[in-house]
Amino acid sequence: MSEQIPARDVTPEDKGSDSVDLYVQREKIYTRAFTGLYRNLRRTGGLALFILFFGTVWLNWDGHQAVWWDLPERKFYIFGATFWPQDFMLLSWLLIICAFGLFFVTVFAGRIWCGYTCPQSVFTWVYMWAEKVTEGDRNQRMKLDKAPLNGQKLLRKVAKHGIWLGVALLTAITFVGYFTPIRQLLPDLLSLDVGGWALFWIAFFTLATYGNAGFLREQVCVHMCPYARFQSVMFDKDTLIVSYDPNRGEQRGPRKKNIDYKAQGLGDCIDCTMCVQVCPTGIDIRDGLQFECIGCAACIDACDSIMAKMNYPKGLISYTTEHRLSGEETRLLRPRLIGYAIALVAMTSVFGYAVSNRSLVELDVLKDRVLYRENNDGRIENVYILKVMNKAQRDLTFVIDAKGLDGLIYEGQREVRASAGEILSIPVELSIDPDKLPSSTNDIVFRIRSADDPSIHQDADSRFIGPSVR
Ligand code: SF4
Ligand code: SF4
Repeated sequence: MSEQIPARDVTPEDKGSDSVDLYVQREKIYTRAFTGLYRNLRRTGGLALFILFFGTVWLNWDGHQAVWWDLPERKFYIFGATFWPQDFMLLSWLLIICAFGLFFVTVFAGRIWCGYTCPQSVFTWVYMWAEKVTEGDRNQRMKLDKAPLNGQKLLRKVAKHGIWLGVALLTAITFVGYFTPIRQLLPDLLSLDVGGWALFWIAFFTLATYGNAGFLREQVCVHMCPYARFQSVMFDKDTLIVSYDPNRGEQRGPRKKNIDYKAQGLGDCIDCTMCVQVCPTGIDIRDGLQFECIGCAACIDACDSIMAKMNYPKGLISYTTEHRLSGEETRLLRPRLIGYAIALVAMTSVFGYAVSNRSLVELDVLKDRVLYRENNDGRIENVYILKVMNKAQRDLTFVIDAKGLDGLIYEGQREVRASAGEILSIPVELSIDPDKLPSSTNDIVFRIRSADDPSIHQDADSRFIGPSVR
């Protein structure tokens, strides 16, 4: 039977009125700067993701951008591979694998995706850093916001929004650069000669980044993100969550120096509220697990630094499990996790096999509307159009053949050369002596293979139609 996570009672306070206002004004969150192990991990991971995002777009491969969604040509280049609309199934598979990967990670370690790698969080941390650099730490920012507008306040605000907009613009240009080659997009932008759609998407993503990371922030995680809503059903009592240990922390409160706090009836929590002040979603983790928690561990770092100052053991707030908190044994390997792991390995293997065995040539056969005709030599003739698509990133010569009937005569181009990504239409006539036709409808196979690389080949089924055989 699945175990339930305790829920908080969020019944609105009765204010003695018949109507209840369900709208709560958002209180601006002023986060405090902090240091610690998890902050360093997050910064390192965030830096790696930024390098990946901003750097990959500049890589070239075989004379074109290495990662490029060429929408007008309906091609997706990813380093040495080109994917076509016909490969859409592979993309669907990849998305399903990513979803299962996320399920696996969530069952195992809760919302670490949210806290460390989600673009919303990563950009929000960068924007919070810009805020701190331009307006100061928490108390200075609170003071600045309350102060009347003056030259210094204006300067700080302009600097903050300038950095925010700069980051947003760079992000948008880079993102659009994955669809319009960046080495062409950037000079076009600088010379104000960029296309309308590119300009629209750059403006759109600039505003989206600026608005999401600058203003909406935790509201995206709390109110808009679907993952935040369904991830709680994947948690169980063995999932790693950020949690406060009430057995150790309570009774919380300030303490007198040089007196054993335990003798004062106090626990390890000194009620400094540092864990609340660093929280990007503005919650108090001491109230228990809440759906707003994105598992970023900022509160762990903040509390550990307080514990170190107090000479108490670290870990009053930690990554732990509900079972461990209640003194029971945590089972990391459990059926649901193993199930997801097996599904993930199986799907990844199938995907890897499908990608590595993907044919680099596509062959489609269109039969002429005229079922058959008799040619001047008295043979029965069928006409076809072969569509040959070279999906490789190099020019290839292909040899075409048709099989399935003894005595079948092929007329048309046997050998064709197709440049990388080219689609060719080749008319082909097949004919046969009517005495050799076993039936009025006969299965045949067109085969195409590369003369340069025998591993590149493709078959396509078709039919040869003739008169009724008596
Ligand atoms: S409670 Fe802690 S882990 Fe959760 S969002 Fe706040 S700081 Fe991050
Ligand atoms: S940071 Fe630690 S000591 Fe301070 S209030 Fe939070 S849990 Fe208590």
